[in-house]
Amino acid sequence: MNPFDRRQFLQLAGLGGVVFVSGLPGAAQAAEAKDEGFYFLQLSDSHWGFEGPPNPDARGMLPKAIAAVNALPQAPDFVIFTGDLTHTTDDPQERRRRLAEFRQIVGRLGVKDVKFIPGEHDASLDSGKAFQEFFGATHYTFDHKGVHFIVLDNVSDPGAQLGEAQLAWLADDLKAQAKDARIVVFAHRPLFDLYPQWDWATRDGAKAVDLLMPYANVTVFYGHIHQEHHQMTGHIAHHSARSLIFALPAPGSSPKRTPLAWDAAQPYRGLGFRQIEAEVEGGKPALVITELPVQKV
Ligand SMILES: [Zn+2]
Repeated sequence: MNPFDRRQFLQLAGLGGVVFVSGLPGAAQAAEAKDEGFYFLQLSDSHWGFEGPPNPDARGMLPKAIAAVNALPQAPDFVIFTGDLTHTTDDPQERRRRLAEFRQIVGRLGVKDVKFIPGEHDASLDSGKAFQEFFGATHYTFDHKGVHFIVLDNVSDPGAQLGEAQLAWLADDLKAQAKDARIVVFAHRPLFDLYPQWDWATRDGAKAVDLLMPYANVTVFYGHIHQEHHQMTGHIAHHSARSLIFALPAPGSSPKRTPLAWDAAQPYRGLGFRQIEAEVEGGKPALVITELPVQKV
């Protein structure tokens, strides 16, 4: 299925959200013009184990999201969950129970290649120990069809930072990349200071952005803030995803970071996941983002 057919299907099914092209005006030509386009999905902030008025269907959300993915006309090349898979708990046993349930439900995905990164709800109270038992490394890289993917962990350190060791690892990994390589970064928290008063920042995120700056084609996808947000730092685009459990207010728009109230007239509003198509159009790399609802509203 070509990208146009895929977008048309979503539109006809009444699912297509706003299409956002993370274009790169003036960017260098893609290193590999041979280009085979592909697409992947970003799911985020499922908070398995959460209970409360902001979502009376809390236990129904993750299964609904999995069903929505499985109903897509063409399976994505891979799915990545960008953190806060589970809702925080002080009890290490309960944390593992939630991670186990989460993993079991996600096992119903028709997609075999599923990747995970932790959020602070999963990892900040035990430095990522339980997460690693279930899902392995918390930062890693992989390559897929001409794109270099870098997964960063800015949550396992309770100081909300990447830390010197991970920054050195990142610098080392980037050294092997051409300056015009197509690079996609995943993290849980934003790497820039979106709203530090609400923990919407990474203490040493600017150091990671500095390391990425010499590369012409870099895009960052993150979660944590439970809403879509698009921001540039220089030529690097940062896109946050919606949540699967409840929406949060716009940065600094209210005194507190209180979840938006559940609206029985429009349930599931503001919740969803995203499709990202990696294309080379007119010789230039582009990522075409389409926001999809968990459930058609
Ligand atoms: Zn978070």
